[in-house]
Amino acid sequence: MAHHVDYLVLGLGGMGSSALYHLAKRGLNVLGIEQFGVAHDRGSSHGETRIIRKAYFEHPNYIPLLQRAYELWHDLEQLSGRTLFNRCGLMVAGPPDGAVIRGVHLAEELYGVAVESISAVDAVERFPGFRIPDGFEVTYEPEAGFLHVEKCVQTHLEQAQELGASVCLNEQIREVNINHESIEIKTDQQRVTASSLIVTTGAWSSRCLSELELPLEVVRKVLFWNPVREPVYNLDAGRGSFFFDMPAGEFYGFPSLDGAVVKLAEHTGGEAVGDPTHVDRSLHDTDVPRVSRFVEAVMPGLSPQPVRHAVCMYTRTPDGHFIVDRHPVNQRVVYGAGFSGHGFKFASVIGEILADLAVTGATSLPIEFLSAQRFSN
Ligand SMILES: Cc1cc2nc3c(=O)[nH]c(=O)nc-3n(C[C@H](O)[C@H](O)[C@H](O)COP(=O)(O)OP(=O)(O)OC[C@H]3O[C@@H](n4cnc5c(N)ncnc54)[C@H](O)[C@@H]3O)c2cc1C
Repeated sequence: MAHHVDYLVLGLGGMGSSALYHLAKRGLNVLGIEQFGVAHDRGSSHGETRIIRKAYFEHPNYIPLLQRAYELWHDLEQLSGRTLFNRCGLMVAGPPDGAVIRGVHLAEELYGVAVESISAVDAVERFPGFRIPDGFEVTYEPEAGFLHVEKCVQTHLEQAQELGASVCLNEQIREVNINHESIEIKTDQQRVTASSLIVTTGAWSSRCLSELELPLEVVRKVLFWNPVREPVYNLDAGRGSFFFDMPAGEFYGFPSLDGAVVKLAEHTGGEAVGDPTHVDRSLHDTDVPRVSRFVEAVMPGLSPQPVRHAVCMYTRTPDGHFIVDRHPVNQRVVYGAGFSGHGFKFASVIGEILADLAVTGATSLPIEFLSAQRFSN
């Protein structure tokens, strides 16, 4: 016998934990199912920190969503009494005619996002520990910073449960059957039918929604923690996050949280992953050199050899933009996928949007640009 719930959320990582919370907040009968534990390290939402910023060089269409995301992260902090967001600021450096710096200025022009332009001479004083490549422009966004990624997931889940949501952990969804009139899922433990379904299965989305043939590519990404040689990157000394648009690729990182190591990574590149469940988490010889070369060129106060690493996955779409949509066969099924390595800062608002779509079929937030339709034109 299947048991029935009104709302079912599949996958409780960054997006699913937030969707569960937003449904529970509306007093709805909701169940969430997750194949691993709370804030686990086998998907895309782990590794201490995630950058959050509003000068969104990827596309200005994201800025209204970010304005709401900021409000919702703030609300969650108030509700839980926890610090989730550290507004330490973000330095961005790159060629003035590159997509990144041009995109930062576009956000400033179109939405009035507060951004300071910093001369190369001033940058040396403002950001000790960084060597700015010749000809680069530097900007600083004071309202940007980072989110404590695992704490965000955990807090959304805890708050959802306090509001009455049910959660099943360590339970893998084996089958998802969606037709015009019904929704049913199977795990090894249970069969559940639902009136409405939200699918937020991250790197596993192509499997859970195979019938949609979503154009998703999962890539393996490595995060590094490198030892500090000079104490010039410390959060408690007012240092912020950073993003460099280098000729070799895009590199980013965070202030040192403990004074001993700095976390950093390359945003570009990554190898395709066949099976997300069995992604190789060991360190390959080829993983380190690109980030080491970036450290040698730009961060003289850091050792180029990492002392720790973590493996995470990006789920990329062909245009790098998210997919947030309703299932064409059953409009009571909604999904968010393909967050393309820049989705976490939006988790608060994507959860709200998915809940809106599941409950009322519509949202007041401008998400047309994220529709899956764009791939069928
Ligand atoms: C290295 C790295 C750095 C990043 N940096 C940033 C950044 O600085 N700023 C930013 O905004 N974003 C960043 N991102 C992107 C961001 O973290 C992701 O876009 C976001 O976490 C994706 O969330 P998700 O909910 O889609 O996936 P996940 O958090 O992985 O959640 C999917 C969940 O579904 C579960 N699941 C899947 N299949 C099943 C099944 N069959 N049964 C049960 N459960 C299932 C999984 O176990 C998982 O918990 C980064 C990502 C990585 C990997």
